[in-house]
Amino acid sequence: MTVPILDLPRSFCEIKPEVLAAAERIFDAQSFILGQEVRTFEAHCESYLGVPEGSCIGCASGTDALLLGLMSCDIKPGDEVITTPFTFFATAGTIARLGAVPVFADVDPSTYNIDIDAAMNKITTKTRAFLPVHLFGQMTPIEGVISELHGRGIAVIEDTAQAFGAVRFADGGILRAGTVGDVGCCSFFPTKNLGGCGDGGMVVTVDKNRADRLRRLRVHGSGTTYYHDEIGINSRLDAIQAAILDIKLAHLEAWNEERRKAAEYYRLLFKAYDVQEFITAPVELGGNRHIYHQYVVRVSERRDDLMEYLNAEGFGVRVYYPLPLHLQPCFEYLGCKEGDFPVSEKLSREVLALPVFPGLTQDEQEQLVAKIAAFFRK
Ligand SMILES: *Cc1c(COP(=O)(O)O)cnc(C)c1O
Repeated sequence: MTVPILDLPRSFCEIKPEVLAAAERIFDAQSFILGQEVRTFEAHCESYLGVPEGSCIGCASGTDALLLGLMSCDIKPGDEVITTPFTFFATAGTIARLGAVPVFADVDPSTYNIDIDAAMNKITTKTRAFLPVHLFGQMTPIEGVISELHGRGIAVIEDTAQAFGAVRFADGGILRAGTVGDVGCCSFFPTKNLGGCGDGGMVVTVDKNRADRLRRLRVHGSGTTYYHDEIGINSRLDAIQAAILDIKLAHLEAWNEERRKAAEYYRLLFKAYDVQEFITAPVELGGNRHIYHQYVVRVSERRDDLMEYLNAEGFGVRVYYPLPLHLQPCFEYLGCKEGDFPVSEKLSREVLALPVFPGLTQDEQEQLVAKIAAFFRK
């Protein structure tokens, strides 16, 4: 048996005829960038997220969404942006790309998301933004600190790359990932829960002026073609991506629900196979609807040996992320050292992502957990 970490063909077969029809429509029209296909998809995202018309701005990638989001908050060289060291590179890479300084705060050991108190303790007179990541598909509970941050002149930018469709029940209502702070930054990289057939991204903001500015920033800062109010970037969403994402958006709730079911089944299997001593299942924070972009467990001992064994047995398991950002060579200039963020460092030695995707079968999950049990009993 082989079970990859992610098996996209299994869900693609459900939508193949629709996707091919959309591709034919776009090739016939020969209209490839932005345009009606993109606006239609943006509008559907606006209703999905429950935000006003014009709040969603498609762009070329999740990385660009972060860059544009930061630019829309006027992040400049020397500004400090507080974020997590336990995330994909782009979160901090985009901060540094603008000449700003990523200031790391350690994460919560149970959710792997930034520890809010630790983050608040990092605020200085230079702090201009707070950039939490809704890692692996569940939201960071930021609702309680937004007004304080705003009061101190600090913008809130959500990295929603792994959490499109995640929600949080708090503050007497439903908070949707990407709509809680000032800007939400989404990725439609093919492996994300909502993924296209290439790179794609989207910025979300309910502030109309910021939305208008973002629409200019994604086309070189131009409001009227060939007239430039400020210096933007080239970051447009393609029609083909928008059309495919629009088809997939209609399935997203069902697909996320399948991921949640698979997560619940893993939890039962760990109990049934009595591996809880070695494997800690991911914790869903109270109030959260986790969408399991990744199903990431902690392995108490011999994580790398287990990974090698499972890979050899045909199970795609991976480590996200093996080296926290504060220890990456490119960030050496920030002056962080080993021991600065002990939770992130420990997680990087213990985490293991197991296969989770729409179409994963219970039989496949059981075979995998049986192998885990066999490994530890040897
Ligand atoms: C994927 C990802 C990004 C970047 O998105 P791209 O579309 O690949 O540029 C940013 N942050 C996080 C947490 C991600 O997982």
